[in-house]
Amino acid sequence: MTNDQTYVIAGASLAGAKAAETLRGEGFDGEVVLVGAEDERPYERPPLSKEYLRGEAGREKVYVHDEGFYTEHEIELRLGRTVVGLDTAGRELVLDGGERLGYERLLLTTGAEPRRLSVPGAELEGVLYLRSVGDSDALRERLDRGGTVVVVGAGWIGSEVAASARQRGLDVTVIEPASVPLERVLGPAVGAIYRDIHTDHGVQMLLGTGVEAFEGHTRVERVRTSDGRELGCDLVVVGIGVEPRTALAGQAGLALDNGILVDEQLRTSAQGVFAAGDVANAQHPFYGQRIRVEHWANALNQGPAAARSMLGHTDRYQRLPYFFSDQYDLGMEYTGYAPSWDQVVFRGDPASREFIAFWIAAERVVAAINVNVWDVTDPIKRLINARQPVDDRRLADLDIPLETLAPDHKGSLA
Ligand SMILES: Cc1cc2nc3c(=O)[nH]c(=O)nc-3n(C[C@H](O)[C@H](O)[C@H](O)COP(=O)(O)OP(=O)(O)OC[C@H]3O[C@@H](n4cnc5c(N)ncnc54)[C@H](O)[C@@H]3O)c2cc1C
Repeated sequence: MTNDQTYVIAGASLAGAKAAETLRGEGFDGEVVLVGAEDERPYERPPLSKEYLRGEAGREKVYVHDEGFYTEHEIELRLGRTVVGLDTAGRELVLDGGERLGYERLLLTTGAEPRRLSVPGAELEGVLYLRSVGDSDALRERLDRGGTVVVVGAGWIGSEVAASARQRGLDVTVIEPASVPLERVLGPAVGAIYRDIHTDHGVQMLLGTGVEAFEGHTRVERVRTSDGRELGCDLVVVGIGVEPRTALAGQAGLALDNGILVDEQLRTSAQGVFAAGDVANAQHPFYGQRIRVEHWANALNQGPAAARSMLGHTDRYQRLPYFFSDQYDLGMEYTGYAPSWDQVVFRGDPASREFIAFWIAAERVVAAINVNVWDVTDPIKRLINARQPVDDRRLADLDIPLETLAPDHKGSLA
């Protein structure tokens, strides 16, 4: 090695692993140290609520890189080690056990952790959360026993767990305070489609209600809802969102607000310290505001972007948010960001469960979901990036190819 600098990445999951890969890919030949609190080498989480949870895919399928990758690329992988202290003035980290580790550049990819439900009985055995591969193993082992599961929260994780549990033949009840699943992101019209899909598969959807308490002697046996029901169960899975893991950054005095604040080049408020993935609340050039994205594609792309920034590149991270979900035989992709909207336009019949829905604000497409319709992400991105008024009748018209509505087709928006 000709470079004697040390670049450290704290958090060995998707964003961290892809950043380490990029440092080497870009030719950095100083030391790269990837520190991770988990014992597993970096892995991907999406299968943990889907095929891995159902036992349809083995452990080898979830890893970001094969086993030899880190040694081959001289990436020092420190697993089962937690960074417990950060001195940004002295450019030094403290690992559990007291070891100190100096750095020239540091990337924080500490991710997010499940929000906990604090109601009576929340600590009972059988009340589970899902974030890690160990959590997924524990849940799968419970699903193998069959019985009745109550899922608290109809967000993405809760909805996918409900679908997987149902596919494994368990009786499933979902409790969700909103009026439809995924309401905050999808709104009532598209959320209702997901409600119906679950109902069609035999899931009992208890909407507009919450959890009052979990009850049982040593393990959870019943859920009491806020509208006065008592549901017997063998198992509860809580999926009520995640919180960014900011303790380390906060203790070091980095600027925080719903995550670690970073600029368009993913630089934190401390010199030489960067952040990416679920933990980063990043200034987005397209939206002109900060956005924290808790999805796979963001970790996949922002990790490498942060690595390039660590190396002195000045590109701005400006990918549109994108995520996917699989429930039963329904696959979807969502592109864009729609905190509010005026109208939802459907292209294709939602009842056929093969459609695109566009969220329109001020006559512009701001986001879209494609459900069981594929290879449309590029024209959707172009429509959003164009920020041009669209004709909703043409958008809905299946006879007009989507590509011809996207702006770089013959130079203008049709
Ligand atoms: C079950 C499940 C299913 C999902 N499905 C989808 C999906 O279908 N589509 C989609 O778009 N997204 C999905 N996601 C979200 C996606 O997995 C996350 O956005 C992604 O994992 C974020 O990656 P990350 O590297 O930023 O953080 P994380 O994956 O949270 O990893 C952070 C890592 O940092 C480690 N760490 C934290 N603090 C320290 C410290 N102080 N010292 C050392 N290590 C530390 C943690 O142990 C962890 O390993 C899913 C998530 C889960 C849990």
